[in-house]
Amino acid sequence: MSKFWSPIVSRLKPYVPGEQPSMANLVKLNTNESPYGPSEKALEAIRAAASDDMRLYPDPVALGLRQAIGERCGVSADEVFVGNGSDEVLAHAFAALLKHDQPLLYPDISYSFYPTYAGLFGIHAVEVPLNDAFRIDIADYRRPAGAIILPNPNAPTGIGMPLAEIERLVAEHPDQPVVIDEAYIDFGGESAVALVPKYENLLVVQTFSKSRALAGLRVGFAIGQRPLIEALERVKDSFNSYPLGRAAQAGAIAAIRDTDWFEEARGKIIATRAELIRELEMRGFEVLPSQANFVFARHPDHAGQTLAAKLRERAVIVRHFAKPRIEDFLRITIGTDAECARLITALDEIV
Ligand code: PMP
Repeated sequence: MSKFWSPIVSRLKPYVPGEQPSMANLVKLNTNESPYGPSEKALEAIRAAASDDMRLYPDPVALGLRQAIGERCGVSADEVFVGNGSDEVLAHAFAALLKHDQPLLYPDISYSFYPTYAGLFGIHAVEVPLNDAFRIDIADYRRPAGAIILPNPNAPTGIGMPLAEIERLVAEHPDQPVVIDEAYIDFGGESAVALVPKYENLLVVQTFSKSRALAGLRVGFAIGQRPLIEALERVKDSFNSYPLGRAAQAGAIAAIRDTDWFEEARGKIIATRAELIRELEMRGFEVLPSQANFVFARHPDHAGQTLAAKLRERAVIVRHFAKPRIEDFLRITIGTDAECARLITALDEIV
């Protein structure tokens, strides 16, 4: 704390990202990255972008990328907003759409960046507890709200919501923006993008970080009708009119077009997930049903923190949250088959 800090900064509780250790031979299953390298076509496009043209500013409206995303998602480029990772897109959505005098509702437990953004933008936030099965129950959202945000599938539980439920939530709050954070949608969930033409209050946010294996490139996007997208554009142009560099735009365009790479990678992750769940259950773990590229699991006889520490001693890093209700869970990213086998071997020495 310093006398130079503004009251908002003094009160901030910043988000703490998962660690990015650089140890060799580490099985890194802590931040839900893809275990597979990105599309070779995306890498080629990034290399090609590293040219003399780098002296020029990038396209400030990223039209080519918005067109490519629009083609893929069945909307027009005007209904696409892009940003530096979906975190930045979410930050712009918070700044653009949320009201200060009406509560923002989001699930507890959920992505811990939401309370951080609420603090940053001075938004009154109300956490809506998950039900006893760790699920989001939309009946709990029938209360006064300025806006609603939830991830589908939820993080860190991995549990997805059927599209009909999402539609009911959006339809029940016609006067509030409803933001669906689909960071993990490509691993078995049902995307709400198809609902965008029908609902003016719906904003769907996705990322290139998970199913496209481009967390390092920092590209995310939102899909919504024009008035919502225009609000995000106003924030962007009041903040940084060039959020995506030339390499990011070029790489993301190639990545979104490489459907063969995408289908193969996500198919492998979904298959490995089923196998990992089976192996964990055989060892006594309770595993929540996951539609994401991670699983959320606890063991009746072992504290989560101890398990995470013992795995770390064996060079396997998973995520543990010291939070009531979930402190005994581990969030384990789906790795390659070989990485998951190393996790299981390590667990066999522990449980
Ligand atoms: N939403 C959720 C639910 C996430 O877990 C993450 C990744 N930590 C993000 C958004 C942000 O991802 P990115 O900024 O890499 O797109």
